[in-house]
Formats: sequence, C-alpha cells, structure tokens
Amino acid sequence: MYYVDPHVHMVSRITDDYVRMARAGCVAVVEPAFWAGFDRGSAGAFGDYFSQLTDTEPKRAAQFDIHHMCFLCINAKEAENVSLSREVISIIPEFLDRPGVLGIGEIGLNKNTKNEVTIFEEHVDLAAKTDELILVHTPHLQDKYKGTRMILDILQNDSRIKPERVLIDHVEEHTVKHALDAGFWVGMTLYPVTKCTPTRAVDIIEKYGDERIMANSAGDWGPSNPMNMPDFVRTLRTRGHDAIARHKIAYENPLRFMMQSKRFNFVPPIPVRSS
Ligand SMILES: [Zn+2]
Repeated sequence: MYYVDPHVHMVSRITDDYVRMARAGCVAVVEPAFWAGFDRGSAGAFGDYFSQLTDTEPKRAAQFDIHHMCFLCINAKEAENVSLSREVISIIPEFLDRPGVLGIGEIGLNKNTKNEVTIFEEHVDLAAKTDELILVHTPHLQDKYKGTRMILDILQNDSRIKPERVLIDHVEEHTVKHALDAGFWVGMTLYPVTKCTPTRAVDIIEKYGDERIMANSAGDWGPSNPMNMPDFVRTLRTRGHDAIARHKIAYENPLRFMMQSKRFNFVPPIPVRSS
C-alpha cells in the first residue's frame, strides 16, 4: 500500500531509512524545518539549512523514488533569541518560491514563553501575508494542553487565518478535539516512547473519526522510527479498518492538506479523490 509521511526530518536519517521506507510503500515525505540539536548562530546557517531542505534533500529522496517537500521556519526552541529569529524570518521569503515549499512550519511553542509567542505570531503574520499553509508544533512537555490552547487562541483570533489551511501537529488524546472542533487539520506523531504510539493513534481515530486527521513518524536524530507509519497502517488493519479507510488516513488525508499549497509539486501515483 502506498503511504505518505507528512512530518519526517530526513536530513537526520541515513540512506537505509529511505530504502526501507520506499520498500514499505512510502511515495512522498514532508520535512518541516526544526531544531538541529544545537542552536545555530546566524541567519546564514539557516539559509544553508533551507537550501538543504529545498535542493539537496529532494534530490537524495528522488534516488529512492520518494518525493520530498518541506516547510520553512525558525523553530520554537531557538525563538528565545528574538533578534536572530527576526533575521531568519526576514530571509524566508527568498526561499518561498522554490518548488515543493508548502508553507511555514513547524512553528509553535516549546516552553510557552513570551518570546516564543512573539516569534510564533510573527511567523503566522508572514504566512497570512504570503498566503502560505501553516504546520504547527505543539509542546511535548507537561504544558502541552496549555501550549496548544495558547496556539489555538492566537490562530483563532487572527481573522486572516483559515483553519483548513493549518495543521496542528503532535496532538494527543487531550488536545485533538480542541483542534478538530476549531476546524484545523491534526497530525498524530508516532514516537517509540513519548507522544503517540500506533495503538493510541488508532484509538483516537476510532473515537474522533477520520476527517482532517493524519499520522506521521516525525523521524529525527533522537529516539524515533520512520517505520512507525507502516506499523500504524498495519495496526489499522489488525483493528479492522479496511483498505479504503487505511488509504484515506495514510495517503489521501495528508495529500489533501498539502495540495492546498500553490507549490505542491507531487503527482500522486493514485489520484486523490475529492473528499
Ligand atoms: Zn518535527
């Protein structure tokens, strides 16, 4: 079965991961900009990273017949440095006309600080002015509920933001309903230890339905596993979700969201039905 991983940090992964993902049916990946594991010291370093995301990595993925697209931003962990964050936000438009750049992300909050909120709002403003999709990272820590609530309030108080053009990622049992009820798309991150397991993700789908919802591996340089997407699809099967339902959740839903971007440049091997 074909699937899409709509949030995976392939710059951190080895070539064998691409091989295994392709064998399991992965046809496209989306890579949001994130924290490198250390704080970058200059806007130039981000410019190099954005070139990696928009040029180098799509070429690497293509060798395995996987289509690569991305989102650009400075992440919440580095937002404490407000002046650097503003410099980075000012260079993002230079990269926004590159093929496969789907929007601004993953922006959001980490520890829910004032500076993080400032930089989140400035990213949202850029996305509104340039009519970009938004991919939002919600905090992993004990403040997840509070941070998610703050993010949803900021987005809902901005009349320029259309919720169907925003993906709220890393939702869990206690945050998913708030995002769905407000009209946003949601993503469940399948991590080996924290966030969501494949079983919990299937529980969430059985409780809240399969509209505007997707899953991702968020594979990165930490304990994570890009093969969690095929594991999730297998869990859906063992729980009785038929092939059409699995195809909708793991393939059509992420593509439906991403296709709203004016620079979506993937030709899906199976056309996406209108919902
Ligand atoms: Zn991420």
